Amino acid sequence: MVSRVIPVEPFDLVVFGGTGDLAQRKIIPGLYRRFWAGQIPADSNIIGAARSELDDAGFQDLARAAIAEFVAKDKHDKKVIEAFLARLSYVAIDAKGKGGWDALKAKMRDGVVKAFYFSVAPSLFGDLAERLHAHKIADANSRIVVEKPFGRDLESARALNAVLAKHFDEAQIYRIDHYLGKETVQNLMAVRFANILFEPLWKSEYIDHVQITVAETVSVDGRGAYYDKSGAMRDMVQNHMMQLLCLIAMEPPYHFDPDAVRDEKLKVIRALDPVKPEDIVRGQYLAGNEQGGYVEHSEDPTSKTESYIALKVNISNWRWKGTPFYLRTGKRLRARASEIAITFREPPHSIFDDAEGWRENVLVIRLQPNEGMNLMVMIKEPGPGGMRLTQVPLDMSFAEALGEEGADIPDAYERLIMDVIRGNQTLFMRGDEVEAAWAWTDPIIQGWEKRGDKPKGYDAGSSGPEDALMLMHRDGRRWREIRE
Ligand code: NAD
Repeated sequence: MVSRVIPVEPFDLVVFGGTGDLAQRKIIPGLYRRFWAGQIPADSNIIGAARSELDDAGFQDLARAAIAEFVAKDKHDKKVIEAFLARLSYVAIDAKGKGGWDALKAKMRDGVVKAFYFSVAPSLFGDLAERLHAHKIADANSRIVVEKPFGRDLESARALNAVLAKHFDEAQIYRIDHYLGKETVQNLMAVRFANILFEPLWKSEYIDHVQITVAETVSVDGRGAYYDKSGAMRDMVQNHMMQLLCLIAMEPPYHFDPDAVRDEKLKVIRALDPVKPEDIVRGQYLAGNEQGGYVEHSEDPTSKTESYIALKVNISNWRWKGTPFYLRTGKRLRARASEIAITFREPPHSIFDDAEGWRENVLVIRLQPNEGMNLMVMIKEPGPGGMRLTQVPLDMSFAEALGEEGADIPDAYERLIMDVIRGNQTLFMRGDEVEAAWAWTDPIIQGWEKRGDKPKGYDAGSSGPEDALMLMHRDGRRWREIRE
């Protein structure tokens, strides 16, 4: 398959927090990969801006090291790296200070796309927006990219939206949720809306339930202080898992257009029922294998923050009434695996005697590792053993189906940054969507805080707390195995 890389327009991209972890691990390597692929015009500029006193060469050295560490070796082309680094410069700026803004303004060109990536703590978003405006660095065509967490409840999200809205229109604000940049997540929309096959079945009449799993093996060690104020609900469910749920549950938009897609997602969020206490299981990993447990990593021996959560979520609308969505996510689990599994109902009547081989159809959308899709279907077991049934996968691993191109799926960040330059907001969250998600999340969190619920302990390397199994067993269902 021939790769189609359509270059974007030349741009000036300022990365506030350019020396930070996210910039060094994701943003700079992602930009390099797009440059290597020929998508970034050679006259584009990338300007790092952070508090450290660095010169251009110092920032280029950081970027060189980031490319060496985070870009696959087959893309290490000395000439391309040097050409890329030549487009990088740096300005020392304190978001709350006065210095550096004139130097930044002097670097910005007219007639190119201007984008500002706020890869800094959200408490600085307001200062940056205000100063970009006051120094007339940003104009009506500029775009700003903001990182998660976008608030920790409805009130703080509203305050962040308000502070950005003072200086930028909604059409200029790109709230990143990197899950939306994943190839399979976008493929979910292609599968649903570019094929006649699934959409007629995409409703509670034919779908028994949906499972969304985001399992991690890592602990919170090293960022326990941050995580302890967040927890799995705020860190994963309110944003990433909510976005996945929306893409599965939304009605077909009239067009693949930013507001049309986001309007449909918003309707789903507004149709979510409150979650009953018995439909929530929170967990905390215990110490094991000579590693500390959650409370040691959080540094608060009495912490009630959840490192695991499982929820049964109901959507009150015509399409989904009667089809629960089960969500689970956690740290220190047995494998790193993110997937969506859509389990169809059993056929109404079986003409075969082989009851044992009987299984429901399942569409599995794998986000990581090994992005791809799998449709589990029933067939006859080969051989002369009579009409025995077995389930096989109709496998669509991108790496295999699309050859080299499938194996080389762009990272979510690089795709999303190119969308910012193109001015396409489809894969970014709109302000009202974020607020609606918090409006659903807040009472759930307040509920367990008020009740004083303690999370259940679970062993490191397990599938999570026992109670989470019961959440499904109770309904006569079971979780899929967590495996890579
Ligand atoms: P970091 O602490 O590694 O880097 C912060 C950056 O901000 C540094 O470049 C620092 O110099 C700069 N900075 C701090 N105070 C400043 C000030 N007053 N003025 C100007 N610059 C200042 O943080 P990070 O991990 O890179 O995270 C950046 C943002 O991205 C945060 O909002 C974080 O929540 C979000 N985020 C990070 C990750 C990740 O994997 N690191 C993932 C998702 C979201």
